[in-house]
Amino acid sequence: MFEIKPFWQNYIDGAWVDGGAGRIDVTDPATGNVIAQHALADAVDVDRAVMAARRVHLSGVLTDMRPIKRGRMVQAMGRFLKEHRERLAYLLSREQGKPIWESEIEIDGAALYFEYYGNQASTVEGRSIPLGSGYFDFTHYEPFGVSAQIIPWNYPLEMTARSLSAALATGNAVVIKTPEMTPLTNYIFAEAAEHVGFPKGTVNVLCGLGSDAGAALSAHPMVNQIVFTGSVPTGIAIASAAAKNVVPCVLELGGKSAAIVHSDADLEAFETDLRWGIYFNAGQVCSAMSRVIVHESRHAELIERAVKVASDLTVAPGETLKDMAQGMGSMVSHGQRDRALNMVKEAQDQGATLATGGSAPNNAGAFLNPTVMDVTPDMTIARDEVFGPVLSVMKFTQDDEAIKIANSTDYGLVSGVFTTDLDRANRAAQKLRAGQVFVNEWYAGGVETPFGGYGKSGYGREKGREALWNYVQTKNIAMKIGK
Ligand code: NAP
Ligand code: MG
Repeated sequence: MFEIKPFWQNYIDGAWVDGGAGRIDVTDPATGNVIAQHALADAVDVDRAVMAARRVHLSGVLTDMRPIKRGRMVQAMGRFLKEHRERLAYLLSREQGKPIWESEIEIDGAALYFEYYGNQASTVEGRSIPLGSGYFDFTHYEPFGVSAQIIPWNYPLEMTARSLSAALATGNAVVIKTPEMTPLTNYIFAEAAEHVGFPKGTVNVLCGLGSDAGAALSAHPMVNQIVFTGSVPTGIAIASAAAKNVVPCVLELGGKSAAIVHSDADLEAFETDLRWGIYFNAGQVCSAMSRVIVHESRHAELIERAVKVASDLTVAPGETLKDMAQGMGSMVSHGQRDRALNMVKEAQDQGATLATGGSAPNNAGAFLNPTVMDVTPDMTIARDEVFGPVLSVMKFTQDDEAIKIANSTDYGLVSGVFTTDLDRANRAAQKLRAGQVFVNEWYAGGVETPFGGYGKSGYGREKGREALWNYVQTKNIAMKIGK
């Protein structure tokens, strides 16, 4: 238990400040109670933050520094997060609803980004290009300048860490727009940047409404690059704003990711994939395993096992769930929970069978019992993202049919194949339209592996070496050096 202070401010140009748009209540979704208020930034605050970041960029302080030194500072930010792990985990569980043990995983994951990208700072090397005698030509990579990062509520720490660490490692200054529902924990990035010695204005953290501060940030003419993680409609709005200023953006949008389970798959082992794939963070994961496409011969068994996995989970306030075996927390808000419940009801109207769940426990929290539905690919629930603990199971007969169903949504974030036949797995991996394919383990991969979408799941890649190129632009220098 930690005390939560009643009012939290934004961090602009190295100072903690109130917001021009007033304050917003922050709610604990497990109880529905307000736990704090946060300052709300308006367009004027956004402008001050962007101009502060721009001043830092133009001063050259970040780019003049030897990259290995910048990298060490980025790594130290990760260690700073770990030093505050216990307090942060408590706060994250209270504002977001997830179990304490999941919050700890998130903090460790966030710290890992700083370790990884801090370590990459000195590896962003150019090359020399032969032009014949008398010329020396080389490329090098320069930061864009001001990176604007708009963060979703499902992993507020990890999502900020992912883009902030890479942006700083490559020498950018950053303005972060935190989510209105989970703004509290992001204070740590301001403190961390200050603690490791980044000049004021390098990292600015502000909470504001998407339609106000978010829109102002993405349209700001002095922003040079945008990273957005969130929904498709907002992604389109941000890409449109970026286009007007001719700046690049990275879009990490939603998904309706499918696991294809073949008749030869190890279904006992698959129970672990179900546990993590759809019930981790109460299913509020962009790359959740929200669809399972199983061979008809194993369909009944799979439903039975999924029901068992779901029924074994305790659903309780995140702050009471300290170890992994204990279960699942609440969803982020009553609005998100009710949206998911409605999608389940609509699916039943369309003929889907509820195998388990589909209901809310009788209490004041934003809980949804872990749900398993038997559906067909034509139903809305088989195509649209629920963003909750709702698994849709459907069946296939032929391998090609499974791929066709998997590829039949507008999305394409990740997908999975479960089989003991590696030829079959490889064939599927080539044909699946998704940015990442898991074979025999959902969420295989990590901070080192590029992640991002095909189709409406977005463009650009975060994580891995790939992501570094989002934050730099190529400069070629062609020198005439002799006669
Ligand atoms: P959202 O409404 O798109 O919000 C995401 C962020 O954008 C929030 O900070 C939001 O501010 C802000 N925003 C809203 N409207 C804006 C506008 N017009 N201009 C600029 N910013 C704006 O998404 P969400 O419903 O909170 O999050 C769930 C979605 O995110 C799901 O679809 C999920 O799949 C996706 N997601 C994807 C990934 C990934 O890595 N691919 C990770 C996490 C989530 P407010 O907080 O004020 O709304
Ligand atoms: Mg929203």
